[in-house]
Amino acid sequence: MRILVTGGAGFIGSHLCERLLGEGHDVLCLDNFFTGSKQNIARHLGNPRFELIRHDITEPILLEVDRIYNLACPASPVHYQYNPVKTIKTNVMGTINMLGLAKRVKARILQASTSEVYGDPLVHPQPESYWGNVNPIGIRSCYDEGKRVAETLMMDYHRQNGVDIRIVRIFNTYGPRMAVHDGRVVSNFIVQALRGEDITLFGDGSQTRSFCYVDDLVEGMVRMMECDGFTGPVNLGNPVENTIREFAERILALTGSSSRIVTMPLPSDDPKQRQPDISLARGRLGWQPTVALDSGLRNTIDYFAGICATT
Ligand code: NAD
Ligand code: UDP
Repeated sequence: MRILVTGGAGFIGSHLCERLLGEGHDVLCLDNFFTGSKQNIARHLGNPRFELIRHDITEPILLEVDRIYNLACPASPVHYQYNPVKTIKTNVMGTINMLGLAKRVKARILQASTSEVYGDPLVHPQPESYWGNVNPIGIRSCYDEGKRVAETLMMDYHRQNGVDIRIVRIFNTYGPRMAVHDGRVVSNFIVQALRGEDITLFGDGSQTRSFCYVDDLVEGMVRMMECDGFTGPVNLGNPVENTIREFAERILALTGSSSRIVTMPLPSDDPKQRQPDISLARGRLGWQPTVALDSGLRNTIDYFAGICATT
């Protein structure tokens, strides 16, 4: 198949491109390089089945493809808050453009949604049936509400125009090729630990997250894309939940670093707890994560150790 991956030069997108090329597909990687990098996909540039397109999804584009994975959108709070209006445009106009493309060429389209649609959840763990607790006017809203509208657009194009859609709600994912200055907790803590810098714990560290290794996530995304008769939304994430303080201590232990943990103010609207209920993914996709946190973190630490040694 000819498969379009928007945001293909980003962290998750670059792993997805690699997986799809490995399965023998033609991959069109589209990116505006806001948070992604050519380095992430450099190894594929000589591959005749790989095509790189510099483009911004807020502008329409004409392509002929069978599948569209719509990942284009900055995922780190630091980056999506840098230009919040642009974040909303990417999620609304960008998703409309990709849905218009899917409609025209009758391609199946998968939207990378997020656990952020649950906001600061009052139901724990979060099943897909939970409608969420999102602040519509806060500093995270450009992303959270943008992704919620993107889901609405997917469902309306499906109901109104019969577009073949899939929605996955991705929970915190980590692994090699996260950007060093990405600002998310995994890259921050690992890079700080490797450099012997202070570990910046926001708040008292009692807030929780559940971290999924990128290979597990990509497996779930591909299974969802190729699953017939199921639009989702479906949660994809690892149900093993940790406090952020425990997470900082785990990274210190695995890196053998003597960095100190220092506390900093908690950003506003930072969700207090997050854990996916993955019963639906287990039942419909036969999917569940297989990579244990320590093992995934070791791979990620090795990756950042290589980067830090050269910068
Ligand atoms: P990332 O920032 O590494 O990748 C996003 C990619 O999209 C980058 O390559 C960026 O340059 C590109 N991009 C941004 N705006 C664009 C635009 N307007 N036009 C074209 N390209 C654009 O982030 P990631 O972690 O790889 O996330 C990928 C997707 O998965 C995002 O949609 C994100 O919202 C979603 N997601 C990620 C996580 C996670 O934990 N990583 C969790 C939930 C959802
Ligand atoms: N966090 C932290 N220190 C950092 C970066 C993040 O303590 O240097 C916290 C952040 O406040 C949040 C959690 O780690 O509670 C996860 O943050 P991230 O930005 O990775 O993802 P999200 O909040 O979007 O789940």
